[in-house]
Amino acid sequence: MSKLWSKMALRADPYIPGEQIDGKGIIKLNTNENPYPPSPHVAEAITQELDRKLNLYPSPTADSLRETIAVHHQLRPENVFIGNGSDEVLAFAFMAFFDPGKAIRFPAITYSFYPVYARLFDIPYETVPLARDFSITTCSFFQSDGGVIFPNPNAPTGIYLELEHIADIAKNNAGTVVIIDEAYIDFAGESAVSLINTYDNLLIVQTMSKSRSLAGLRIGYALGNAKLIEALTRIKNSFNSYTLDRLAIVGAEAAIRDQQYFAQQVERIVQTREWVTKRLKQNGFTVLPSQANFIFANHYKLSAKLLYEKLKRNGVLVRYFDKPEIDNYLRITIGTDTAMTVFFEKLGAVIAELV
Ligand code: PMP
Repeated sequence: MSKLWSKMALRADPYIPGEQIDGKGIIKLNTNENPYPPSPHVAEAITQELDRKLNLYPSPTADSLRETIAVHHQLRPENVFIGNGSDEVLAFAFMAFFDPGKAIRFPAITYSFYPVYARLFDIPYETVPLARDFSITTCSFFQSDGGVIFPNPNAPTGIYLELEHIADIAKNNAGTVVIIDEAYIDFAGESAVSLINTYDNLLIVQTMSKSRSLAGLRIGYALGNAKLIEALTRIKNSFNSYTLDRLAIVGAEAAIRDQQYFAQQVERIVQTREWVTKRLKQNGFTVLPSQANFIFANHYKLSAKLLYEKLKRNGVLVRYFDKPEIDNYLRITIGTDTAMTVFFEKLGAVIAELV
């Protein structure tokens, strides 16, 4: 490696994102995007903004969007921090709340960006094993030295942890920050946002990439006590004085305002998830109980790697993780009903060939 690199660059061991293939006819079920377009009001708002003010800087803290998000969650703007996708919000949160020398905890099977940030920012970490059924064991997160982070529902398992357990974890970590990454919460049970007024050490991170179909605009945000938000803002302003570009700000506002469209799309995906689960079981898969827009499943006989490769050759992209703990599982994003029907046709042919 380069002798010119800083210690930080040397430590960096980057996250490898899922393949982004744009080929025609590819059924893309590998990066948990929403298969439906965003609300039509998003394009209208962006077109209007394009005609107006691109020569002017946007609001540094995206204030109008902050206000919209605050109202949506029945909070105040001081409780909202916005970033360029929740990955960026999470990076700022690692810098704002976790320290070198104090080990943070996250599940042994979880979002693989957490160890990447921990290594980059020199934060030690302990991975907590999941129970045999892949659920999170609440008490193993009590009394952490440096803080806690995990997604709810967890990724890539899709398993949801009830709010009373989140409250217990926050209560038993007073003095350190507990971050709940709710990237997939809109496909699941209740959000832990209702707990932030009780627990001032609880930070909730959400994204507009999944349930709002805006992965391409890059909008994520954190919700928490005003003191936590202030720390995030200090860190962000030390990097870049602007939060989002003008098009992302107006697009995000339009998406949040269109609650009816949002609710319809979420409901469609949840319904598709239910029938896809049943059919996977009929095809010889064990399926974890998902409350997300993806499913984590393993076949009783065939290797996940082989299935992934054969499906890819047949134009269907799912996610395979080359990690020993989960290398017998596939993560399958919920697509449209049509896409999932094609998926099952191709899967059936691949299984028939291999079994
Ligand atoms: N958290 C989890 C658990 C995720 O799966 C993802 C998507 N890869 C993210 C955060 C980041 O999403 P985004 O940066 O698009 O908001």
